[in-house]
Amino acid sequence: MRVELLCTGDELVTGLITDTNSTYLEARLFDLGVKVERVVLVGDVRPDITQALLEASSRAEVVVVSGGLGPTADDFTLECAAAAAGVPFEEDARVLGWLQERYAARGLPINPSALRMARIPRGSEPVRNLVGSAPLVILTLGRCRLFFLPGVPREFRALLDGEVLPRIQAELEARPGRVFRAFRLLRTVGLPESEMDLAVAPLASSHPRVVFGFRTHAPENHLKLMAEAPSQTEADGALAAAEVDCRRVLGARVFGADGDEYAPVLLDVLGRAGATLATAESCTGGLIAQWLTAVAGASTVFVGGAVVYSEKMKSAWVGVPPEILERHSAVSSQTAIAMAEGARAACGTTYGLSVTGYAGPGGGTPEDPVGTVYCALAGPDLVTRCERMSFPGDRERVRLFAASHTLEMLRQ
Ligand code: ATP
Ligand code: MG
Repeated sequence: MRVELLCTGDELVTGLITDTNSTYLEARLFDLGVKVERVVLVGDVRPDITQALLEASSRAEVVVVSGGLGPTADDFTLECAAAAAGVPFEEDARVLGWLQERYAARGLPINPSALRMARIPRGSEPVRNLVGSAPLVILTLGRCRLFFLPGVPREFRALLDGEVLPRIQAELEARPGRVFRAFRLLRTVGLPESEMDLAVAPLASSHPRVVFGFRTHAPENHLKLMAEAPSQTEADGALAAAEVDCRRVLGARVFGADGDEYAPVLLDVLGRAGATLATAESCTGGLIAQWLTAVAGASTVFVGGAVVYSEKMKSAWVGVPPEILERHSAVSSQTAIAMAEGARAACGTTYGLSVTGYAGPGGGTPEDPVGTVYCALAGPDLVTRCERMSFPGDRERVRLFAASHTLEMLRQ
């Protein structure tokens, strides 16, 4: 199925907002096995929008249009659609009724601006918008079906998921020679993309029905598996076999699949083992604590964390001996170990986790340049583990990977 997307709005072509609607649509359609062929951005210029609608509908079978359905003077996408189709742009009694109900429910009088939203191209089909005012409008132009959606991402997504995608899916299912698909996303941390590729590449020939795709979502790397077959059972079977092989070669670096998030998975692992955790963070400034506390119910595992950014607080709050700081510096394995043990002792937890490093752009030493990070894990075992890492990139990236790698010590 040939699908194109047309996003309208001056904000999109003047750098004011990022077009997230197309990313959303592309991902959702890809799950149905459809690749968007073209995405076009157009400013709020009537002839340009009309022209873009005519061009897209002459190429594609389905065109999804975002934006310009609202009540303001810069919202005229449907007017352009009527011009492109050569039909009148007129008030629709159904849409008018929905708008009247919506305004009445909020105790507001319907004003002339809002009434603009009741006008649609003659012959098009409006579908009620339950999360906003402007309806979804479906118009057929030649052999192409156009879906007009509001630009506000919340409304765009709701109408896309609830109304547009089910229609597209039904159409795909009705086609002869239908291909069935099954998907799995394997999520890893601590595994560079190149290593993932090397590990997985030899598997491709044993799984001809599966397409392997890679995606970086720092600090995670994802492997996307898509199986295609003439029946759902075969697609599911091909996917399951590929997943087993991939998990075997990627090992424990896979922390979850599909919608699994890192912090909840980690808290769950610790929680099931009856373990508790305390942290002492320097260069990450509480990032680890933030990730953990973003998960509801984290307190059964995560007891507390200290941001010990200065040498003074490393000693005062987690008891790093001043001699260690003097002899080895604040960024050293000795300090990281003392921080982890200090956090564990202070909170009485099963584990203490620490991280200290040079996030840059300044600082560092010839032996430990910017990007060097020490992280340590203290636990019931007698020996506290410490790792020295070296992360490339700017301050934000070093902090992100430092936090992620430190947490990963708990799983590995
Ligand atoms: P409204 O009723 O709010 O006017 P609309 O359908 O007319 O809705 P627009 O006016 O084009 O939509 O966009 C409304 C807002 O939605 C924009 O100001 C912008 O913040 C956001 N938006 C529009 N298009 C996109 C897009 N492609 N990606 C992300 N956000 C968008
Ligand atoms: Mg608008």
